[in-house]
Amino acid sequence: MSEGTLRAEVVQVCRALNERGLNQGTSGNVSARVAGGMLITPSAVPYQELGPDDLLRLDLDGRVLEGAARPSTEWRIHAAILEARPEAGAVLHAHPPFCTALACLRRDIPAFHYMVAVAGGDSIRCAPYATFGSAALAAGVHAALEERTACLLANHGMVALAASPTGALELATEVEALAAQYARALQIGTPVILTADEMADVREAFRDYGR
Ligand code: ZN
Repeated sequence: MSEGTLRAEVVQVCRALNERGLNQGTSGNVSARVAGGMLITPSAVPYQELGPDDLLRLDLDGRVLEGAARPSTEWRIHAAILEARPEAGAVLHAHPPFCTALACLRRDIPAFHYMVAVAGGDSIRCAPYATFGSAALAAGVHAALEERTACLLANHGMVALAASPTGALELATEVEALAAQYARALQIGTPVILTADEMADVREAFRDYGR
């Protein structure tokens, strides 16, 4: 894929975050792996005004290699994931309403629904609270993502990683739907949690269907 196509895909994903109600104001940010580092959305630019040339190129130490604006304040989360997870081609961070509501309770999403396996395991963890933009937050997110492709961030939001920006968008959409379902189930009663064996069967079935 050419860099131009990748830049266009990142912008398209940012717009879709707004359209799907996953983004609040300018709080979301998206990155994509390129040779020598990443492309990342600029800080505080509304997505409806964002163009492909507005993305910054950073190395994984946060040095700006190309671009005039300031990079997203959460570049450390993106860099930490791209550094540690070779399968990640893109990282998405946002404050979707239901993910954020559960994150404010500092609650993991357990296996209340089989689709929780879409993020790689039997739960979607909530990373510990740390100040936005801090190295401590990036480290906590990295740990919460062990054997997972998505996590919540305490009192903050969520992160998803995938091979492509579009893949990260689809995963984030799925995780927000799960968060909404879990929050509603909690309002009615106590959700029944699937067993480890039941979830192992789900992961195997996902592999068979090539998800
Ligand atoms: Zn944030």
